[in-house]
Amino acid sequence: MLQFGIDLGGTKTEIIVLNDKGDELLRERAPTPSTSYPAIVDTICSLVEQARDRFSQPYTLGIGIPGALSYQTGLVKNANTVCLIGNDLKGDIERRLNHPIVIANDADCLALSEATDGAGAGYPTVFAVIIGTGCGGGWVVNGQLISGPNAIAGEWGHNPLPWRDDGDSEAECYCGQKGCLETLLSGTGFRRQALVETGIDRTSVEWNRLYEAGDPVAIRVFERYHSRIARALASVINLMDPHAIVLGGGASNMTSIYQNVPALLPQWVFSDTVETPLLRSVHGDSSGVRGAAWLGSQQASKQ
Ligand SMILES: [Zn+2]
Repeated sequence: MLQFGIDLGGTKTEIIVLNDKGDELLRERAPTPSTSYPAIVDTICSLVEQARDRFSQPYTLGIGIPGALSYQTGLVKNANTVCLIGNDLKGDIERRLNHPIVIANDADCLALSEATDGAGAGYPTVFAVIIGTGCGGGWVVNGQLISGPNAIAGEWGHNPLPWRDDGDSEAECYCGQKGCLETLLSGTGFRRQALVETGIDRTSVEWNRLYEAGDPVAIRVFERYHSRIARALASVINLMDPHAIVLGGGASNMTSIYQNVPALLPQWVFSDTVETPLLRSVHGDSSGVRGAAWLGSQQASKQ
């Protein structure tokens, strides 16, 4: 059985085909027509049809999307590619392909990918987060992606920052709350918070470059950023005590996080020692599409 995975991103749609061992047999991408729902369905199905014709073998299909499916309606919700919202993406694709599919959030796909054969392989429980344009998370136990009745398992980004102090701003979040982790930890959140602290507007990548060059202002900005990540992860460890935490997304390329955050955790974790490894994702930008492929095979094995 082959495993097809699709990663529907804001600018590109990618397909991967894996064999049972996780070897990559095919990878192709196409631009995402992000303002047209029918064109998105057509793009996904065309990629699958081409792969199906090429291999002519039984396959499973998983799709990672920047959002989730409502359990109540089956329709897309919480998607930042807004033309997806309220549409029956699963049904429309299944009808066209005449084949069952599984859809999951892109952070869940990262978690499943890294827990299966990435940085979290071999750990009984893995909490994985994407810190990039957003701040998603996913939770895998014994190789199985956990999904609860609200389809939000692992979504730590819309909890408030814990152990808040006067330096942590409480910006409005698109979800309707104030002071969510996402407003402080995401790439845009980092930039806004650094602007509040220093009066200087720079991207997180520019700040990181200065930090690595030893700039004292950037070092102060990152000290506070590391503290916020540590507080956010400490609350996850206190609640779930994962065997490993895997970091993906743009922030996963900031090596200072792995060097500094683990030493800060014991201040807030309710334990005499903190053994939780903080790991960089192995598959990087490919984690989403690989996780989508594993998702389809996982679902098939349950049936
Ligand atoms: Zn929020």
